[in-house]
Amino acid sequence: MELDIPYLLQCYNDYKFATTMTPSMRIDALEEDKRPSACIGCGQCMHACPQGIDVPAALAELAEMYEKGPHWGDVVVQRAKSIEDDLK
Ligand code: SF4
Repeated sequence: MELDIPYLLQCYNDYKFATTMTPSMRIDALEEDKRPSACIGCGQCMHACPQGIDVPAALAELAEMYEKGPHWGDVVVQRAKSIEDDLK
């Protein structure tokens, strides 16, 4: 397992400061073992980070935000159902 930490931190920042679906869409596009929930919290990256970012804490929070949703796939299904209902 190797996580793309800069990519995931960008998703984290977008969750915190942007109000779009794109962070969840970007995480949806990752394999399970590349998602923030795959972080085991070992802390090795914290020692290497020149900015002293608490990466495991950020990834745990990101995993929680992602799990809460909404997820783009769910939104698409809801919209399709809504259109179907309108056409009945
Ligand atoms: S805490 Fe460990 S598993 Fe999680 S991102 Fe850092 S190095 Fe990877």
